[in-house]
Formats: sequence, structure tokens, C-alpha cells
Amino acid sequence: MSGAKSNPCPIKGCTAHAKPNQLMCWPHWRRVPKPLNRAVFETYADARGRELGGEARIDAIRRYQEARDSAIAAVEAKEAEERS
Ligand SMILES: [Zn+2]
Repeated sequence: MSGAKSNPCPIKGCTAHAKPNQLMCWPHWRRVPKPLNRAVFETYADARGRELGGEARIDAIRRYQEARDSAIAAVEAKEAEERS
């Protein structure tokens, strides 16, 4: 076992794995619209940072989860459009 754990790509139907500290597999991550890509990075830094505590930290984590969900939804919407 290595210390780095990979996690399954969250995009529906994708069997690839995301690299450690990455939200989804590289081909899917490349499809995330720029503003959402940036939002994920920024909120992730806040959620993981040690500067924030208590309520602010909880809020940062919530914003990260929202950004992440939006990014996933955006990629899934693109894929659904292509399949139709
Ligand atoms: Zn994927």
C-alpha cells in the first residue's frame, strides 16, 4: 500500500480514478468550465487551510462542496448532451 490513495472519478459512468487531491479523472477535469475549475481550487484551499476555524471553516467546506457539485454537474450535463 502506498500512502497516496486514489478515488473513483465521480462522473456518472466513468470507471477512471482521480489522482490524489484531484476531484475527478484528468479527462473529465479538463472539461470543467474555467470559472468552476477556479471556484473548486479556491474553495478547496479555504476548506483545507488551517487559517479558518469554527463557523468559517464549516462555511468554507460547504462552499467547496457546492463548487465541487457544480463542477460535476457541469461535466455530466456536457456528456448527456453529447449522448443525446
Ligand atoms: Zn472521469
